[in-house]
Amino acid sequence: WEGGGAMAAAGSEGPRSAALALLGPVPGAPCCPHGPALLFVKTSQGKEEGRRFYACSACRDRKDCNFFQWEDEKVSETRLAAREAYNRNHQPPFTHRQNMDRYKNFVLLPLSKRRFCQECQQLLLPAEWEKHSDHQFLCDITTAQLKSPSQLLYPLENKKTNAQYLFADRSCQFLLNLLRDLGFRRVLSVGTPRLHELIQSKASQEEEFSVRSLLLDIDFRYSQFYTEDEFCHYNMFNHHFFGGEAACETCRKFLCEENGERVIMVTDPPFGGLVEALASSFKKLMAMWRETEKEGHDTKEMPMFWIFPYFFESRILEFFPSFSMMDYQVDYDNHALYKHGKTGRRQSPVRIFTNLTPSMIVLPEEEGYRFCAVCQRYVSSGNQHCEICNSCTSKDGRRWKHCVLCKKCVKPSWFHCNNCNCCTLQEHSCEKSDVGCFVCGKAGHKRSACPSLSHP
Ligand code: SAH
Ligand code: ZN
Ligand code: ZN
Ligand code: ZN
Ligand code: ZN
Repeated sequence: WEGGGAMAAAGSEGPRSAALALLGPVPGAPCCPHGPALLFVKTSQGKEEGRRFYACSACRDRKDCNFFQWEDEKVSETRLAAREAYNRNHQPPFTHRQNMDRYKNFVLLPLSKRRFCQECQQLLLPAEWEKHSDHQFLCDITTAQLKSPSQLLYPLENKKTNAQYLFADRSCQFLLNLLRDLGFRRVLSVGTPRLHELIQSKASQEEEFSVRSLLLDIDFRYSQFYTEDEFCHYNMFNHHFFGGEAACETCRKFLCEENGERVIMVTDPPFGGLVEALASSFKKLMAMWRETEKEGHDTKEMPMFWIFPYFFESRILEFFPSFSMMDYQVDYDNHALYKHGKTGRRQSPVRIFTNLTPSMIVLPEEEGYRFCAVCQRYVSSGNQHCEICNSCTSKDGRRWKHCVLCKKCVKPSWFHCNNCNCCTLQEHSCEKSDVGCFVCGKAGHKRSACPSLSHP
């Protein structure tokens, strides 16, 4: 076992190659501070090999959580007790309830006494100023600031564990308008604090606005701003509610209100995450919804938007065959790559995957999207309908070209290589390798060099 973390290894190579595979969340798994650990196994060319072990579900970097245990390892009573103590010590300093009481006191303070410690990312009460005297802080925290915590808190940019990429305002507004137009009244926001915030602020400002949101996120800083009915501390890689049965029940109730109708789940997980772990949790959330006593539609799935890069399409469809990928490009504020530049558009690879009927997802015409009558869905302006494939085939928004030898449309920058017998980048190496790429599954390159990720 050498550094790097199980998630990093499994996430970057996938089950096709010599790497680590996720066996899943299993009953009776040992716990780290992030809830039950996940079971992994070393694989070689898809075959299981070697000892199975547990590792942290949430952290892909050993520096963030170094939990490790062989599946067949005997753990002594002393070590178990030490582990429990460790897990307790690594919980946040205040409970959600305590944070709510603190908030109530905080809003009673005059503006001049409202401080937010930037180092501890915490609202401070006057009695605590002393303790934070050598920390940087913001003063005069307004009600407006308290209502937009995603602006007040700094985005956690630790790439491996908590990469927080916040929606650009335009994308966030688009999502909310879409949800409203589709008639949804409740949004389960899983890892979408900014969407949650937009819904909360509209609900408090506009009278006829009738959408509500429940935020599920691992970022406990949000518990300073939202009640237990608005926020649950949740780990989406192992479906763990840190607040225990009560928090789980809050979520269940939220899903099952109005007979389970008019609710949708929207999630925007960290991209480095294990798709199978996410899918397993999302299925459990869907099952929570399905268990409502509602008449006649037990075959239906809970509506869902899973926001994720387009190159994960096949992985997502493996777990959710009813999903399709929309062309809408989701933009972010703090991600240089995924943001619209001043000069024209830098294409974002992030899309919406949904189990709703594609034709219902109306994309903004003023941004160039148009409806394809044959495909019965909105597509991006560059996405041409291919007569041979009989579909709008572009995944990245650029116009793709049809290759008669590959019998499919490929990226405009690709050429057919007779050696490899497929289309690829011109400057590729034809050498064979039996380690497949995690992203496209093809041999000959690693994920970092995958032609399907490259931009011209
Ligand atoms: N675009 C979204 C934010 C997506 S960033 C928005 O603007 O609202 C990913 C989000 O998932 C972050 O809020 C992060 O805190 C959360 N997250 C990361 N790991 C998580 C985990 N294991 N369980 C639950 N949430 C997690
Ligand atoms: Zn501080
Ligand atoms: Zn084609
Ligand atoms: Zn080809
Ligand atoms: Zn590849």
